Amino acid sequence: MSNTTALLPELILAVAKTIENNAEELTSLDQAIGDGDHVTNLQRGIQALAAQSEALSQLAWQAALQKIGMTVMASIGGASGSLYGTLFLAMSKNLQDEPLTLTTFADAFSKGVEALKQRGKTDKGEKTMLDVLIPVAERLSQNANTPDVFEQVKLTAVTGAEATRDMVATKGRASFLGERSRGHIDAGAKSSQLMICAIVDVLSEKSTTPP
Ligand code: ADP
Ligand code: MG
Repeated sequence: MSNTTALLPELILAVAKTIENNAEELTSLDQAIGDGDHVTNLQRGIQALAAQSEALSQLAWQAALQKIGMTVMASIGGASGSLYGTLFLAMSKNLQDEPLTLTTFADAFSKGVEALKQRGKTDKGEKTMLDVLIPVAERLSQNANTPDVFEQVKLTAVTGAEATRDMVATKGRASFLGERSRGHIDAGAKSSQLMICAIVDVLSEKSTTPP
């Protein structure tokens, strides 16, 4: 697998497309138990990244992830901007030596998710994006060297998003609804699943076996 930042323009495009293709569903999820702005927020971040994708592809991973973190923090703004920003900045800080392998990426991703947990004061089971990100980080770390890692990660992301349907939100705007938040998938969990699946699809196209 080509694991350089030259992949970033294609990855950003794939993320933009999946959010665009699923905008209606994501917006209705956020309208049901949030304030309906989730797609707009994400698209502000994705557009800011797309504008920088060529510059990002010239950087090493550590610098690129730092720039991604600062860009999403500034462009998305608000609570979710700082959560996504924290994820990427912590990944940059914890990245081991380059060149990047799936194992070193998995380690940095786990530390990024840990930082997001602390920033959001949230854990698994609270009906947020972390119900996708935490199991995906665990699966990626466990399966980094197995041939079906990409399929496993996608399955874990889909299962994680689906599991938020029966949860009661205890964080974010949806928590104001208490019991009434049950019965709807969390918008942030669904968008995380879609973005992870889009990224994995690009990566698996590039390689028949993991690095
Ligand atoms: P806002 O909540 O400011 O309107 P968005 O609509 O963009 O922002 O994002 C909402 C998503 O953010 C939720 O669906 C949830 O997944 C996630 N979220 C909200 N609060 C937290 C938190 N404290 N920790 C982790 N994720 C959170
Ligand atoms: Mg919202």
